[in-house]
Amino acid sequence: MMMDALVKAQPGKGLELRRVPKPQIGIDDVLIKIHKTAICGTDLHIYNWDVWSQKHIKPPRVIGHEYVGEIAQIGSNVKGFQIGDVVSGEGHIICGHCRNCRAGNGQWCHNTQGVGVQRDGAFAEYLSIPASNCIPISKDIPEDIVSFFDAFGNATHTALMFDVIGEDVLITGAGPIGMMAAAICRHNGARHVIITDINDYRLNLAKKLGATKTVNVNHESLEEAMKEAGMVEGFDVALEMSGAPSALKQIFSTLRNGGKVALLGLFGDKQPELDMDEIILKGATIQGIYGRKMYETWYKMAAMVQSGLDLSPLITHYFSYQDYEQAFDTMNTGMSGKVILEWSK
Ligand SMILES: [Zn+2]
Ligand SMILES: [Zn+2]
Repeated sequence: MMMDALVKAQPGKGLELRRVPKPQIGIDDVLIKIHKTAICGTDLHIYNWDVWSQKHIKPPRVIGHEYVGEIAQIGSNVKGFQIGDVVSGEGHIICGHCRNCRAGNGQWCHNTQGVGVQRDGAFAEYLSIPASNCIPISKDIPEDIVSFFDAFGNATHTALMFDVIGEDVLITGAGPIGMMAAAICRHNGARHVIITDINDYRLNLAKKLGATKTVNVNHESLEEAMKEAGMVEGFDVALEMSGAPSALKQIFSTLRNGGKVALLGLFGDKQPELDMDEIILKGATIQGIYGRKMYETWYKMAAMVQSGLDLSPLITHYFSYQDYEQAFDTMNTGMSGKVILEWSK
């Protein structure tokens, strides 16, 4: 049996829509018939074939890791799933036997494998993954939202790393994860949520999702925005989601003494130069973030949507998977929120 899939067929820019064999499942796996997928920044890196993807992707590879679908086949060892169940899945396949896995910290697994990065991914009609990675989804949650639960998980894990109830939060970077983090912080009781970026389209979208103030750092002052908000001692919590060295500097200069910082954005070949003494003397707490908690974050995500967190303004574009080139072009303009590819209903 063959199926359609979006394949990084060879080094260089772009993808190919190809007929590839439908994946086989092992006894501990499930086969998922994909309904919808969402394009992640990682997929865009792979599409554009940047330095990171040249190092991490070995073509040919089916890419993609944000998806919603239904169970189409179940391995003989698997319990707890039925054919037709609506599911999504955690994008990291972990080893289960390293120290962190055994301690319940799978997000720090020593041997982690990324779906759609080190193994074939979800931009296909079918995906085979270990059942332990598969997340049952309640039918009252819209599938459009579930299609990007993996990214929502990064936002949730970062935004809820520190207590935000009654706190003033700075988010640097208004990509889809930064925008979702703004919504999550508000939903969880933050007072001011100020988000910075240099893209007005995305800052406007962040406002729709619940940011109380937006600052375009190209021509607006963050300090001024803090003053207008009546903030006196600085931000209580900061979430770095831009990977821009200047943003990280701004975090430490506007953080209150004893403030907390969660770092998600990667800096790659533009590493920040920091005043370490400032960080030490402020008594700042810094936490690096990778992935999501397995699987506590997934429960929080579903529960927040069910308790009224509305992420629908984030979805700006829908395409059929056959029009994937238009979808990736749209992502490359920077004038988009979440872009969804539809596979089947
Ligand atoms: Zn992703
Ligand atoms: Zn492990």
